Amino acid sequence: MTGNGRLRLALASKSPARLATLQAAGFDPLVQVSDVDEEALLESVRGGPAQKVLALATAKARAVAYDAREAAGAHIVVGCDSMFEFDGEAVGKPGNPEKARDRIARMAGRSGLLHTGHQIVHLESGASLGAVSHAVVHFAPMSDAEVEAYVATGEPLHVAGAFTVDGLGGPFVERVDGDYHGVVGISLPLLRAMLANWGVSITRLWQPPVKLAGDAAHSPAVESVLAAADGTPSDNSIDSGAAGVADASGAAGLLAAGSGRPKPGSKPHSGRRRKGADGFILCPCGSEHWGLAGAAGILAFRERESIEVLVQLRAEWSHSGGTWSNPGGAIGWSETPLEGALREFEEETAIGADSLDVVGSIVRDHGDWRYTTFAARCETAEPVPNDESLALEWAPLDDLLEGRLDRPVHPAFAEDLPRLAEVIRGAAS
Ligand SMILES: [Zn+2]
Repeated sequence: MTGNGRLRLALASKSPARLATLQAAGFDPLVQVSDVDEEALLESVRGGPAQKVLALATAKARAVAYDAREAAGAHIVVGCDSMFEFDGEAVGKPGNPEKARDRIARMAGRSGLLHTGHQIVHLESGASLGAVSHAVVHFAPMSDAEVEAYVATGEPLHVAGAFTVDGLGGPFVERVDGDYHGVVGISLPLLRAMLANWGVSITRLWQPPVKLAGDAAHSPAVESVLAAADGTPSDNSIDSGAAGVADASGAAGLLAAGSGRPKPGSKPHSGRRRKGADGFILCPCGSEHWGLAGAAGILAFRERESIEVLVQLRAEWSHSGGTWSNPGGAIGWSETPLEGALREFEEETAIGADSLDVVGSIVRDHGDWRYTTFAARCETAEPVPNDESLALEWAPLDDLLEGRLDRPVHPAFAEDLPRLAEVIRGAAS
């Protein structure tokens, strides 16, 4: 695939509202739905609604992306799932008129939070990215007769949250704070941001007959884009000044650079088949982070002449390779941060929970993504590194704090260190 041709989207969802949204935006996606045991997955996710929708979106997208037959003809698969949170509870499909009437009467005149999880997978490189959109939905006060009439239409019975914003329920939604399309089922601005994170312009998703900027009948600009999409050479240089072409030519980035088969030992950006909550999430802070369900690790310490902490020089191929930090990684959908931290720590150091005494923790909270670091006393065990470490060493805490190590300290870890040092010193004798 070239760096500026058209890209075809596959929608891993059978929601007509999502399809209509994408079609209206000019994307004409292929619809591919795979079987995902949603109930079982939801049961296993420990986090709140935002985590649940991201877990389901991820499972749907991967089910299609990892099946070559299903993904045929598409370049990027997108999976989505939505959940409405009201009074602190996830509100599913009411299923029967009594429940629907009860819920709608309760929601009228009040507001709730709509979460939509998104997962995109680039088929050729295997790159993937998750993200969650949130919007506050304000309902108008409704008369009993209106509630009755809306329930009688049958529409609210079969939709999450017992309402639609793009259908018969529309008149009763007074206001949306956040992205409207996220409430319908797929956030177009978020999809744009996710693709932009890969260096890809969303304008590349436009399919014929969308007219690109400056599209006179046979504009050279359009022909050059189409030629690029077909992979055939074009005599037209891409400097016509047409906006669509300018965007397209700027969209080299990861997808162009990362085309070709995944190489073993390459960074997690490129093509491994992800499992569970392993993967990148585009955070509201604007960065991508590792761990769809968040991440966690352990900073082990021991008291010798001074306080020493166990630090890991991450292997070059890994995320943040070549920097010092504490052992840790992505937690699983069903794990608590502590469970995930202990598992990751044992994988990377061969030191089990029996040899650790957790004395405290700190959290780096980015909303949809969190990193929890546990401080744990470890007086007797010695680490055995796996392939994720270039080195695994006991270093004096003061050397770490003052940057006296031979390689850089991971910036986020460096930021957390003073608080971690406080926790450790508070627990030391
Ligand atoms: Zn962040």
